[in-house]
Amino acid sequence: TEACLLAIDSAGALNAFVHHTPDMARQMAQAADARIRAGDAAAMTGIPVGIKDVFCVRGVPSQAASRILQGFRPEYESTVTQNLWNAGAVMLGKLNQDEFAMGSANESSCYGPAVNPWKVDDRQLTPGGSSGGSAAAVAADLCLAATGTDTGGSIRQPAAFTGIVGLKPTYGRVSRWGVIAYASSLDQAGPMTKTVRDAAIMLGAMASVDPQDSTSADHPVPDYEAALTGDIRGKRIGIPREYRVDGMPAEIDALWHQGAGMLRDAGAEIVEISLPHTKYALPAYYVIAPAEASSNLARYDGVRYGHRARLGQGDGITEMYEKTRAEGFGPEVQRRVMIGTYVLSAGFYDAYYNRARKVRALIKRDFDHAFADGIDAILAPTTPSAAFGLGSVDSSDPVQMYLNDVFTVTLNLAGLPGISVPVGQDRQGLPLGLQLFGKPFEEGDLLNHALVLE
Ligand code: GLN
Repeated sequence: TEACLLAIDSAGALNAFVHHTPDMARQMAQAADARIRAGDAAAMTGIPVGIKDVFCVRGVPSQAASRILQGFRPEYESTVTQNLWNAGAVMLGKLNQDEFAMGSANESSCYGPAVNPWKVDDRQLTPGGSSGGSAAAVAADLCLAATGTDTGGSIRQPAAFTGIVGLKPTYGRVSRWGVIAYASSLDQAGPMTKTVRDAAIMLGAMASVDPQDSTSADHPVPDYEAALTGDIRGKRIGIPREYRVDGMPAEIDALWHQGAGMLRDAGAEIVEISLPHTKYALPAYYVIAPAEASSNLARYDGVRYGHRARLGQGDGITEMYEKTRAEGFGPEVQRRVMIGTYVLSAGFYDAYYNRARKVRALIKRDFDHAFADGIDAILAPTTPSAAFGLGSVDSSDPVQMYLNDVFTVTLNLAGLPGISVPVGQDRQGLPLGLQLFGKPFEEGDLLNHALVLE
């Protein structure tokens, strides 16, 4: 814990931690010490972790990197963080992210972007988003592990950009209670770690059956670490042909082949499969996610939480809402609220939102068919490129940024578990990741496949 606190102090330039909690860390580390001495250590006793700003931690600023939540210190603890503290983990502080987890570069944060510890020459690169602070902190050894959330790739893409492991669990595996909502039917929290084994241990600590989250699944949490045998002989790995998108860089294709080769060498059978509705995933996601966001973010009205705009003479409640939301939400969040409101409005609901929901069902069915055909896991690239320069994506063309999510959003739409593992490097030496998709609630098996890619 002391080593991490020291590292955090000297790594301010990464802008990974946005709230430091050194006193809490030392207290918790001491309690962990006592537990260890008493022979009462749990799975994560004494392990210093960072927490993405989107998780409510009692008494600690929890703003989802938004100005609109300025000054908000929750009176309650998210289930995930409570589970981590129960398992003995030590809280180092809150980690940077995109505002309300909307973004792929950590550039929409009210704290400014987190910076990738990997560099090419002197160019500052994005650690990815939205869990960019978590990824940067783990990659730079500021903490041993971090929490992330993944609505459309926000655990897996930053993991790939920083050379770490990121796991998005099955929807319902990890409680969403106390996690500031972005798109409730897609959001899922998961571990961001240095190794697959760490991911197994941390998932076991984060996951639970939680009556406070109505979508929490009623499945007991297995021992994920026990599933890590490294034996995948006879397993069938699907290579989805629709992921071979136009313009895919040769090095991503080569990485994908390399990963398939590693799994084959370990005794798995590699099979080409088809997930025919893949190409509709990105447009469906960018209808469903903003729709749910516009509804979830309606609660930020200047009354119940955080920031309230200064009002002028004669301003009434409408002006207060308008001014507060105009000041409190950044441009990307405002864009999503407008898109979401539009696709949910009378007259457009059927054309956009309902159609996207139907597409979502078809995407899920593609995966169901693959697994019913005997496929055990699916291998795909995590991202279409390595980390790009901060500020290099034209902000006047948001779709350019959305295209980064082309390989990740399908999984959230289908509610399945997926893991990104660092496998190779691009020609500049930057990390690249491959992801494996697994069957619902079979994270243990998924982690075991991932072990082979490590
Ligand atoms: N980049 C995607 C988005 O902006 C995914 C974000 C996430 O998973 N939270 O919506």
